[in-house]
Order: sequence, then structure tokens, then C-alpha cells
Amino acid sequence: MTLDNIIEEINNAKNIVILTHENPDGDAIGSSLAMYSALKQIGKNVDVIIPEYPKTFEFLPNSKEILKEGKNYNYDLAIALDCGDIKRLDGFSKYFEDANVKISIDHHGSNTMFADYNFVDPASPACSQILVIVLGALGVVIDKDIGTCLLTGIITDTGGFKYKGVTSETFEFVAELLNKGVNVSDVYKKVLQTVSRTRFSLMQIAINRLEFLEDGKLTFTYITKEDEQKVGAGNNDYDGIVEMGRDIEGVEVSIFLRETDNGYKISLRSNDYVNVSDICLMFSGGGHVRAAGGNINLPFEQAKAKIVEECKKHLK
Ligand code: 5GP
Ligand code: MN
Repeated sequence: MTLDNIIEEINNAKNIVILTHENPDGDAIGSSLAMYSALKQIGKNVDVIIPEYPKTFEFLPNSKEILKEGKNYNYDLAIALDCGDIKRLDGFSKYFEDANVKISIDHHGSNTMFADYNFVDPASPACSQILVIVLGALGVVIDKDIGTCLLTGIITDTGGFKYKGVTSETFEFVAELLNKGVNVSDVYKKVLQTVSRTRFSLMQIAINRLEFLEDGKLTFTYITKEDEQKVGAGNNDYDGIVEMGRDIEGVEVSIFLRETDNGYKISLRSNDYVNVSDICLMFSGGGHVRAAGGNINLPFEQAKAKIVEECKKHLK
């Protein structure tokens, strides 16, 4: 079984590197720091590499240990967390490829199975929830610090326990964390509720531009690099914008484009029936059935027309 292999490889390794996807969210950072603390607990040398991440997550235990660059040696083992595609390893795929053994633990349906051992469960609402099983099998004690990191991943990827992927195990785990003294309400407020002023400004711009298309079944909005400069946006301040369209009555698909150095980053969300992961596969991306992303390198009007056209094909 893959999990047995993973446990054996972790037990055999001395120097381990943890990597996650670019523009990391709460699940990416929470999973990485939970794994970092867990591997330290069982006596490993561990590096966790995340070049940039939102300030929101600086409160997480051991966030000060995050490296911007890897060390100059081959790791015995590399673990990619919450990452469906090696191209998304934040420019650090060399550390992954150079490691003697490569493991991926993830929950993206579009995972390309790029590691030696792939523990991928698309039914899990968060990579952090899969780690509850992995860390249990490793014999790690899930203490308050590790629990806070895992909870952060679960809260962010389930939109605060509200998405369909939430299982009874999600609540059982959170109940255990409450018993251990993890302040669930405080973590919830920090990672989901509190909005920075710069993020609020980007939301205002995006709301003002939001268009309803196809009888209100599609919404479209966007943010440019100039907007981000103007408001002094921080890392991932655009997070949450795509959900605003999705949450409007009658909308099936919400489209959000963000200008990058290579065209536009696409974010799609759907409500009931459109598989946005399939749509994003056409734009060298992927993700989940109701939340996915990709990239398009065309001028704005053409990029907009192409993505709107693709989404239209899937509407009933
Ligand atoms: P977001 O719209 O929040 O950036 O991403 C939604 C989901 O799709 C996340 O689970 C994210 O990891 C995934 N995703 C976003 N962009 C890409 C991409 O370019 N490639 C792949 N494979 N997944 C992506
Ligand atoms: Mn995730």
C-alpha cells in the first residue's frame, strides 16, 4: 500500500525537504508546517521551502523556520504537499527531482501522479485532513501546534466547514483539537474572517467591475498588475474575489482573471454542475470539480473571450 511505503521511506530518511504549490494558501502552508513539526518530533532534519506567503499565516507555529531557498545538497526524501502538478512546485522542482525518493500527498482530482509514491485522495476536503491519517500512521502525537496548522488547512479549504467535501472525520478531528485546547474560533477568525485593508480595496475594484453574462449564470471580473500596485496589495490579496461571483444567486460559474508576468491567471468556481477542473485542464491548469485554476497568455480581451466561450459550453 502506498501509505505503508510512505511511512517506510520517511522512517528511513534523514534529510527531508517539504515543498508546496506556488501562491500557497492556508492548506498548502498549514500542511507544510504540520509536516515540518511532525518530522522534527520524530527526529528528522527537515527543510520547508516556501519563497513567499501571505502575512495572515505568520501566526502559525514554526512559520519562522520557513526557508526562502533550499540548501545546497541532495535530500534523501522530498515531500510535495497539496500540489497536483510538479510545474506548480514554486520554482523548486529541482529539489524534488534531485531527491533520492519523491512523495506526493495531495487531494487534487487532477493530480498528475508525478512522484514515486502518490498518496492522493480527491475525496478529502483538504490535504491537511489526509495528513491526520499520515501523521497517525507515523506515530506522531498531534499536539496543539501541529493541530493548529492542520486546522488552518481544513478551515481554508472547506471555506469554514461549508463545502460538500466536509466529512464526519473533519468534525471528529476538530472535536479532538478542541479537547486539546486549540482555539478553533481564534484560528477561524485569523485565517478566514479578517480581511486586510489592501485585500478589501482589491475586492472593491473587482466588485465594481463584475459583469453578469449568460442570463446571470456566469460572472466575470479581473484585477490588473496596476490595480495591485495602486492599492499596495500583498501576497494573495486577490484570494476570495472569485468566490464573490460564485455566491450570487443564480450564478453557476464565476470567472476571475488576474494579470501576471505571462498573461493572466484564471480562477474558476462553480456551484452545482459545471466541472471547472476539466475546463482548466484546457488552460494548462487543474484543481477540483468546483474550484480550479489555469493560465492564459493572450491580451486581455482575447483571454476574456476565450475563457467565457469555454465556460458557456458547459452551461445548461
Ligand atoms: P485558485 O483559484 O484558488 O487559485 O485555485 C483553485 C484550485 O485550483 C486550488 O486547489 C489550486 O491548487 C488549483 N489550481 C489553481 N491554479 C492551478 C494551476 O495552474 N494548475 C493546477 N494543476 N491547479 C491549479
Ligand atoms: Mn488544498
